[in-house]
Amino acid sequence: MKKGLNISGQRVLILGAGESGQAAAELCVKLGAEPVFMDGIRCKTEDGRSSAARRAPDNASRFPPDPPDNNFQLSTFNFQLAPPDNASHFSLLNSQFPLAIISPGIPPNAPHVRELRNRGIKIVSELEFAYRQCAAPVLAVTGTNGKTTTVTLLGAILKRGGVRAEVLGNIGTAFSRRALELKRGGRAVLEVSSFQAEAAETFRPRVGVILNITPDHLDRHGNMENYAAAKFKMLSRQRKTDFAVLNADDPEIMKRADSVRAQIYFFSLNKKVKGCYIEGGGVWFWGGEGEPRWIVSRERIKLPGRHNAANAAAAACAALLYGAGDNAVAAALAEFTGAKHRLEFVREVNGVKYYDDSKATNIGGALAGAWALSGEVTIILGGSGKGYEFDELFEGLPANVTRAVAVGAAADKIMAAAARRGYGGIVAAPDFRSAVEAARRLTVPGGSVLLSPACASFDMFRDYAHRGEAFCGIVEGFRELRIEN
Ligand code: ADP
Repeated sequence: MKKGLNISGQRVLILGAGESGQAAAELCVKLGAEPVFMDGIRCKTEDGRSSAARRAPDNASRFPPDPPDNNFQLSTFNFQLAPPDNASHFSLLNSQFPLAIISPGIPPNAPHVRELRNRGIKIVSELEFAYRQCAAPVLAVTGTNGKTTTVTLLGAILKRGGVRAEVLGNIGTAFSRRALELKRGGRAVLEVSSFQAEAAETFRPRVGVILNITPDHLDRHGNMENYAAAKFKMLSRQRKTDFAVLNADDPEIMKRADSVRAQIYFFSLNKKVKGCYIEGGGVWFWGGEGEPRWIVSRERIKLPGRHNAANAAAAACAALLYGAGDNAVAAALAEFTGAKHRLEFVREVNGVKYYDDSKATNIGGALAGAWALSGEVTIILGGSGKGYEFDELFEGLPANVTRAVAVGAAADKIMAAAARRGYGGIVAAPDFRSAVEAARRLTVPGGSVLLSPACASFDMFRDYAHRGEAFCGIVEGFRELRIEN
């Protein structure tokens, strides 16, 4: 039995006023509580680096207007509260908040969060808060790359199989928005980020999928060990009756598989495993004994690339364990063409194909995009880095990616890594438009230009979608060159 949080009639502090903060506030109101937002505009982590800036809702007032000095490090923050509140931030912190709900964008070790914790205020993640109020069982997917694709596919398979599934979480609609409405007969299919997984206390998915673990967000997690531990934390409260679906081809996952208490099933592109695997042109399911079952031919999967075959196998495995029929899996895999800005074909101009993979915001994602295309490829790299070097990227690129263009804040690092790894076909561009135009000049007919940047977008854009739209806009503006007789 889950322990709900009884907050009726209480004030609840909401840390962060983005989608998950606003959704948590909405859920607080439904539960009879009064939400108060606290949103750090220049939230600094302990080592002095800025975390992602958060935007408060338009009706929020900035508070305090002029941050006073020496108030237990609060001078490094501007707080924004909604609705406007005249209290000083001291009285705000001293007033009785039984609970604070922290959004995934806020580092749990930020000074103001530590201060709240020191004052005895219970801090839970938005995921945990929603989970405690939700009667429906949860299927959750985490991993460095492929979460959105896999949860969308998993939701589609379950719906095809007649299950009332809702896809929620990091993907767009926060869990809190639907937590109370989802009843026992429904299913929450959640995309869970490492930030949400690490700050959850009782969260226990009936089926938990870990897709892959490659370097990402090391600026926030510090090192790979912490990052991998945050992902596995999602499975740490599972019981023997639950299922864990793990990537048998991922060494970072396999070295931690022993810590899992749930029944483990795997997915693999390379070998027969208990779970789902790809062999002889088909997707198979094997329950660990007896004969494996043929689910669908690989050719019928619409999503491009090996990485997407892995996502498909993971989604199929989770859905089959949760009672979906083989036909539902086969039909959904044959229908689903992918999500926006994930290796999306934009258009062909003068014999060159353009692909928008703006969501490839780390090295693993960029490599997956690069390996999915054939013919000569020019890759556009760069944006804001995330605390890693780019050597692994140049080591891993397939031979047909003969040219690259580097742009944005990480361009110098990228150029330096290319030089170290002896990758000669790279040029730097001063801005994003020049980068796309340079890629066009460098690519011969029959080839492709791939925006798979291996970086976040915040140095030049609002987010990856904004970057993808900019790319598509520039490419749409390219004219066909015709040779007149
Ligand atoms: P997430 O939600 O985890 O960011 P997405 O499904 O949005 O994952 O895909 C993000 C990017 O990661 C895509 O642009 C693609 O290039 C890459 N990608 C998707 N699935 C995988 C995978 N299984 N392994 C490696 N890279 C992947």
